[in-house]
Amino acid sequence: MRQHDAEQGKRCGAADAKDLTPCEGPLMAVTVLTADGKEMTGCVAHSARQLASLPQARLHPLCCLSPWAVGVYARAATLPPSAWEVGC
Ligand SMILES: [Zn+2]
Repeated sequence: MRQHDAEQGKRCGAADAKDLTPCEGPLMAVTVLTADGKEMTGCVAHSARQLASLPQARLHPLCCLSPWAVGVYARAATLPPSAWEVGC
């Protein structure tokens, strides 16, 4: 059922308010930890964008159990910081 959330127009918790790109897949694929200890759980696309944008951000250790964790890291490595501001 979660895999259809993004298809129903729902937004994940990792989507920046200025980032108008749609979520991809489950809205709770992984959790990003920020340098100041905040957590944001989101889809693969927006979690990768946050990971690429927030200095010292990382995935929650339990994400090693997520089948999407490697994809999030791989995607983040190809993105510029704040991709939504530069049109990526
Ligand atoms: Zn999302």
